Amino acid sequence: MKIEKGKVVTLEFKVYDKANNELLEDTKEVGPFFYIHGHGNFVPKIEETLEGHEKGFSTSIDISVEEGYGEYDSDLVVEMEKSEFVEFDDIYEGLDFIADMDDGTEQSFVITNIEDEIVTADGNHPFAGKDLKFDVVVTGVREATKEELEHGHPHFHGFGDDEEEECGCGCDCGCH
Ligand code: ZN
Repeated sequence: MKIEKGKVVTLEFKVYDKANNELLEDTKEVGPFFYIHGHGNFVPKIEETLEGHEKGFSTSIDISVEEGYGEYDSDLVVEMEKSEFVEFDDIYEGLDFIADMDDGTEQSFVITNIEDEIVTADGNHPFAGKDLKFDVVVTGVREATKEELEHGHPHFHGFGDDEEEECGCGCDCGCH
């Protein structure tokens, strides 16, 4: 089956920082990556490169800052009071959380430093400001279900076809 609009594509990849060849992410550690092709789920240049290929295809793709995750924005580095985290059981460096922004959007942050009562958090994507190299292997291609197309993201299947089970996609859509 060829990769085209509306197909759910499963990828294994390694992402390297081009500047120093540092391995930034390996799906062997965090689990395979799924996306619905042609729905703006993933880096456009990677989707374009994979278009028309099939399971087993592998390639190496350079993604510049502009093509990827954008420039590093120092305005997204914020200092907060520890007291703002009262609803958390525990806070530590590396913890991520979602914050409501002034413009009504949600932004995910990672705590980068905790000193006395001051917590520093960074809202930049970990790949922001970096030229990247993706070593990609296509490990699956299938039709998206009607439900997945409605939600605009893939669901995980194969953990039992119990209708009552959560889709496991991590979204708040309440889908079953
Ligand atoms: Zn869903």
